[in-house]
Amino acid sequence: AKKMGRANHQFFAPEMNAAAGARLLLEQQLRRALENDEFELHYQPKINVASGAVMAMEALVRWRSPERGLVPPNEFIAVSEEIGLIIPLGAWVLREACRQNRAWQRDGLPHLRVAVNLSAYQFRQKDLPEFVAAVLLETGLDGACLELEVTESVVMHNPAEAAQILERLHAQGIHISVDDFGTGYSSLGYLKQFRLDTLKIDRSFVRDISSNADDAAIVRSVIALAHSLRLEVIAEGVETKEQLDYLRELGCDQYQGYLRSKPLPAGEFEAMLRGAMLT
Ligand code: C2E
Ligand code: CA
Ligand code: CA
Ligand code: CA
Repeated sequence: AKKMGRANHQFFAPEMNAAAGARLLLEQQLRRALENDEFELHYQPKINVASGAVMAMEALVRWRSPERGLVPPNEFIAVSEEIGLIIPLGAWVLREACRQNRAWQRDGLPHLRVAVNLSAYQFRQKDLPEFVAAVLLETGLDGACLELEVTESVVMHNPAEAAQILERLHAQGIHISVDDFGTGYSSLGYLKQFRLDTLKIDRSFVRDISSNADDAAIVRSVIALAHSLRLEVIAEGVETKEQLDYLRELGCDQYQGYLRSKPLPAGEFEAMLRGAMLT
């Protein structure tokens, strides 16, 4: 920044230079992180509300940075999208989630689905269905053991194209979930155009479900809507027994949340699964 000379100083306040410098450093470290294998996946179980059984697990990426420690995705996914890193990073996440899931299956653990979050940028790659097919082939994972989580805005960006992509993913047996349902588009017409399997109710509706009548009404309606379209419903961010009891009463199929388990590193998740097999 020093090289830019005096003239630039009139345009940038010192604190803006500091911010720009910090951002540049973050970008450099992020680019190196992929080469240096600094990303890791944590897994959070998806639980059947009625039986308490683990049905699937969501893979959530973390960055173990030598300089910054364990960095949560909210601090690097958006930047990764802006600098184009999300495509190779997303590819790594998909491959690693499929590889790990297949390794657990080979080790005699129950055959579960692993859910992977897709960025809008990944979804817009024309060859996404072929890329996913290649990863399944390479890792030996059955398409029925993969779930992709996409947000409403991802599919609504270009609905006609999205419908085709979802169809080609669905043809591989892959399960499709709409993440953060209810926070994006209010148009529900798309639900019947797309090959979907699950609606995922956003945490913001779950938080006050037992005390806020509006949130309860929204959750009740989403569950009724999903079931009438033969879709499953999962609630995210379930932290209390009270919330779970309420969701059970409303007929919610699955839940995810700290009440049962935080996202865990692979080793701890595996230990948890083995423990569950013994009980
Ligand atoms: P998301 O897909 O909505 O994931 C749910 C987030 O809620 C996760 O945060 C999870 O750790 C957190 N969570 C789970 N249970 C609870 C709970 O009971 N209470 C509370 N307060 N939070 C809970 P995380 O892991 O920090 O991920 C944040 C977001 O980053 C994700 O939101 C997703 O949008 C994005 N993300 C994570 N991994 C990936 C990835 O591999 N690729 C892409 N494109 N995005 C990812
Ligand atoms: Ca998700
Ligand atoms: Ca979500
Ligand atoms: Ca969310």
